Amino acid sequence: MSDKILICEDEENIVFFIKAELEYEGFETDVAYDGEEAMRMFSGEYSLVLLDIMLPKKNGLECLREIRKISDIPVLILTARKEVYDKVAFLSAGADDYVTKPFDTMELIARIKRHIQRAKPPQNLVVNADAFLAKISGKDIHLTKTEFEVLNFLYTNTDKVKTRDEIIHAVFGDFYGESNVVDANIKNIRAKIANITDAKIIETVRGKGYVIRGVPCLN
Ligand code: CA
Repeated sequence: MSDKILICEDEENIVFFIKAELEYEGFETDVAYDGEEAMRMFSGEYSLVLLDIMLPKKNGLECLREIRKISDIPVLILTARKEVYDKVAFLSAGADDYVTKPFDTMELIARIKRHIQRAKPPQNLVVNADAFLAKISGKDIHLTKTEFEVLNFLYTNTDKVKTRDEIIHAVFGDFYGESNVVDANIKNIRAKIANITDAKIIETVRGKGYVIRGVPCLN
């Protein structure tokens, strides 16, 4: 199940661009083009709200205050450079972060991912190499030997992004096959975890590799 983001923004070119990027990253998106529509659409199904300050009908600050009465969802504010004074008001009203337009897309995506990840309860992923045992939320993940070794390598390197080459080197040693063997194994591991929990344990870092973030080491 993918995370769903509510984009509240009235500038269509910005919406078009953010929506395309988020969907490329595997998120689902809905768009509200004004503040009243945003409040009608807002629900517990979203993982994060992207909220423009200058919205028609109901401005971003009013929307944020309404959201905060009912939800702790991560809210990331989109501001224009000249609206500097608003940042304090938004942060004190409970915004988690803000991004100034024009923004760097990779930075926006990275911030969105971080806030979504932080908002999730920690998943009790346990990988015990000696016992050849991997559990999530107390349930066994039934992995092949290779899948287990890939997961274990990422787990023992929590919070460090590992490239495909690094993963291949760690798991296969000298290897002359296709580097997409890593992607294939990650895909299988994700599918097996998805049978147990909605949590995204292995994150893809575009252009770099894979990482497991912030999972407590319990073994
Ligand atoms: Ca606007």
